[in-house]
Amino acid sequence: MSEIVYLNGEFMPLEKAHIPVLDRGFIFGDGVYEVVPVYSRHPFRLPEHLKRLQHSLDGIRLANPMSDTEWTRLIHDIIARNAGDDQSVYFQVTRGVAKRDHAFPKNTKPTVFMMSNPLVTPAQALVDSGVHCITATDYRWLKCDVKSVSLLGNCLLRQAAVDADAVEAVLFRDGYLTEASASNVFVVKNGVVLAPPKNHLVLPGITYDVVLELAAANGIPLEVREVSEQEVRTADEIWVTSSTKEVLAVATLDERPVGSGKPGPLFRKIHPLYQDFKRKVMRQAA
Ligand code: PMP
Repeated sequence: MSEIVYLNGEFMPLEKAHIPVLDRGFIFGDGVYEVVPVYSRHPFRLPEHLKRLQHSLDGIRLANPMSDTEWTRLIHDIIARNAGDDQSVYFQVTRGVAKRDHAFPKNTKPTVFMMSNPLVTPAQALVDSGVHCITATDYRWLKCDVKSVSLLGNCLLRQAAVDADAVEAVLFRDGYLTEASASNVFVVKNGVVLAPPKNHLVLPGITYDVVLELAAANGIPLEVREVSEQEVRTADEIWVTSSTKEVLAVATLDERPVGSGKPGPLFRKIHPLYQDFKRKVMRQAA
């Protein structure tokens, strides 16, 4: 549990943090957020997260309430005020408190909230076995590149996965792979890693970028292009990636084995590369 949180300029214990019921984040889901993994008290890829925050804010036409320098200072401050070397820093900006009206209010101060929780990365057993996933129709809106706090679609899809004892719901829109309810998705076919392009149908994952960079730097064949549902269903390997899941192999999709039903050869290559990369970046930051 987060001990000390930040709300609109002040640090306080979580139980002291309250927002008015007319906050547009509560009323409309009118806000955006970020989640930054922290290893050994160093935020991972922070400039990239702040760039994505700006993209999300631009996407909802909300001015950034802080400069990148101020965000960076605040994030380091919340890390220092909370226990544990590995943390997950969550922060969100909403359009603030105003009389309920769909149209934007004028001169309203955005609400800024930040908390940190212990970072729980996947257990080694899960890395070794791979995870179960289901598939579902991607019925979310058409601005999935905005990291919006309006996550009802994602929540419903993720709950469908949980109801089926699965970790994720892999999503298809019009016959093509988009992403999963809270992760990006990669497919391996005939020794080539296939990644859906970053566009309005997917969240531009920070982990997605790291995986693409590592594949390119290590001679792993890679194609960024649309991936059909058929290609996913006949894939040799499927991976899901996110800041907290890192890279996980999908062992079964809709209860059918993916490839051999175990993490495949390219997963066994990319996973240690990701772990090494993380360690290297953290050593440089220290
Ligand atoms: N897609 C969705 C819908 C997500 O919620 C997430 C996790 N925030 C991701 C992809 C992965 O993004 P990241 O690698 O930045 O955690």
